[in-house]
Amino acid sequence: MPSDASSKRAKALRQQIAHHNERYYADDAPEISDADYDALVRELARLEAEYPELIDDASPTHVVGAGALSTAFTPVTHRQPMASLDNAMDDAELAAWGERVLKGLGSERPRFVCELKIDGLAISLRYENGRFVQAATRGDGRVGEDVTANVATIASLPRSVVVEGIAPKVIEVRGEVYLPTAAFQRLQAAKEAENRERVAAGRKPEPVPVNPRNAGAGSLRQKDPTVTAGRGLDLWCYQLGEIEGGPQLLNHAASLKYLHDLGFPVNPKIKVVEDLAGVIEFCKHWQEHRHTLPYEIDGAVVKVDSLAQREVLGKTSRAPRWAIAFKFPPEERTTILRDIKVSVGRTGRTTPFAELEPVFVGGSTVSMATLHNQDQVAVKDVRPGDTVVVRKAGDVIPEVVGPVLSLRPAKSKPWQFPKICPCPLRTELVRPEGEADTRCVEPACPYQRDQRIIYFASRGAMDIEGLGENTVFQLSDAGLVADAGDIYSLTREQLLTLEKWGATKADNLLSAIEGSKQRALPRLLTALGCKGLGPSASEALSRAFGTLDSIMLASEADLARTDGVGPVIAASIVRWFANAGNREMVEKLRAARVEFGKVEVSRLPQNLSGKAIVVTGTLDGYSRESAEAAIKDRGGKSPGSVSPKTFALVVGTEPGASKLTKAQELGVPILDLAGFEHVLATGDLPA
Ligand code: NAD
Repeated sequence: MPSDASSKRAKALRQQIAHHNERYYADDAPEISDADYDALVRELARLEAEYPELIDDASPTHVVGAGALSTAFTPVTHRQPMASLDNAMDDAELAAWGERVLKGLGSERPRFVCELKIDGLAISLRYENGRFVQAATRGDGRVGEDVTANVATIASLPRSVVVEGIAPKVIEVRGEVYLPTAAFQRLQAAKEAENRERVAAGRKPEPVPVNPRNAGAGSLRQKDPTVTAGRGLDLWCYQLGEIEGGPQLLNHAASLKYLHDLGFPVNPKIKVVEDLAGVIEFCKHWQEHRHTLPYEIDGAVVKVDSLAQREVLGKTSRAPRWAIAFKFPPEERTTILRDIKVSVGRTGRTTPFAELEPVFVGGSTVSMATLHNQDQVAVKDVRPGDTVVVRKAGDVIPEVVGPVLSLRPAKSKPWQFPKICPCPLRTELVRPEGEADTRCVEPACPYQRDQRIIYFASRGAMDIEGLGENTVFQLSDAGLVADAGDIYSLTREQLLTLEKWGATKADNLLSAIEGSKQRALPRLLTALGCKGLGPSASEALSRAFGTLDSIMLASEADLARTDGVGPVIAASIVRWFANAGNREMVEKLRAARVEFGKVEVSRLPQNLSGKAIVVTGTLDGYSRESAEAAIKDRGGKSPGSVSPKTFALVVGTEPGASKLTKAQELGVPILDLAGFEHVLATGDLPA
């Protein structure tokens, strides 16, 4: 018998799940992330498994999820129910499903069809005598909504389906309507621009769409199909439903081929595999490469291929036993925004960031996320105390996507950007006319000073191992460093006075500092932190002038003449060296015998001269730095973003979605590791 507490918990879970179903399916505006929702359903399923007395035929674990059907659309009764899918969250659950299938089939061995789980909205498309007549959403699996006019606006939807002059009398096809990433980003950017105008006019911003799934579902379920038409929805078809007057199909792979031949968009990544090892390989591959696709997937769907075997395996009240959805770890979670604080960068730029209730998302625990600038906070209207959606996808840094407005505390007020610098000097912050950034303009600001030292020692600059953020804060608090030059006069005795520092740690840091004296000139130049002077301009200047002293003595005009430098950076360099404090710092470096004229000139053929190659993700055998160095050593450039001038985008594992989408939009060639090595060797794209 279940205890009172278990019965109460099951009841509460059912109520919560029903509430979230309503928000997700009926309103296309969920309050919690899918992962948090899945956790509720799993908890209920666990309770029901432990106490079968708690099972109820209407339980969300037994029915296809749905909110109330919208009255804006005519109900459509599905002639064949549209089921949901059972989920596997890891390899073990996938393997357990595989075992159940094998057991269910006795001596027969199944083949599996592996598909991408498109993160969109399930749709049923009906054709009669070859002509498109109806599209319906899944609804509760039995009755859905008639969205024919809206689906008819999707460009890839075939209007008529005829193969060699013959059309089946009736054919019903299932698939997923989705919003491609680029279309979603356009929608998001348009809403943000609209919100900026609203905020400027003193009006309240409107919710910004948080993910392609909900934006796609909302776009499809519009009363006015012309709105749907403008959103750029697309379609993948993955299942044959009712068919009359068509060929006899014995397996799923054949039916997908038939759908493709009829003109339906069938995803080309679908793969037939012979065993569970192949299934696991497919799932692993797409979990790693999900961001190389121009649309979102939240998992893989594995289906038994033989239709006869499917009959044998049968179904439960909500899902077939012959299929399973392998869900990828979540990239989106909901959590509490504890506070919004402001950090001060090395140039005085202030950046608001969110302090979050720690949440595991995108493979790591996230407790902080940048909010970019004042306008972004206003446009998203996130406030301390809000429940917010946090997203971390691939190698992209964590992002607060937006607030869950329905969960906002009653008395919350819009967050105000601080007027003074958070450092002990408490200087007034300045936002120059027409700029997005608010700055601390006090040169003595200790926060800026610490950030300049951190930047000096960072990997892309002087690369001093062990001199990260925390150590710099410790040294600065102890009064041991006031600028980067002071690093070179630190002593063992001084370091040993610091809390939790032992001899090994101190010696390691001192030897890393000593080693950094030999860095090549471009690194030293970058490390100085002149505004706008990054690694590639530093490299160009080093090649042109040879020593730090020649650069220091060069005129603004001479500096500006250097290829890749230009007047803005030249002016910034001259300004930097004109500052007495900066010159003093350079003299400390000289006194410490830091190398001022070490330029490493490449002897490799300069076959990438003038070509910009962007790298995203991890490449086997290369670090990000060494991949970029390989390009630069051959005369090329490796900028951080894709533009119409980009020669090629090199894509490794876990690439950045935005770079990939941009490259696809602009038609920039996309290369894998082999393609990259070809370009390095020849300077040309592979055939
Ligand atoms: P599901 O999304 O786990 O799986 C079934 C669906 O997968 C199908 O209906 C179809 O739409 C889709 N699909 C995509 N590619 C497919 C393919 N190749 N073959 C077959 N189907 C494919 O199950 P569900 O019942 O649609 O929804 C439950 C899920 O919805 C939850 O796990 C959760 O992620 C989300 N949800 C979230 C909330 C929330 O509040 N955040 C509320 C309700 C549901």
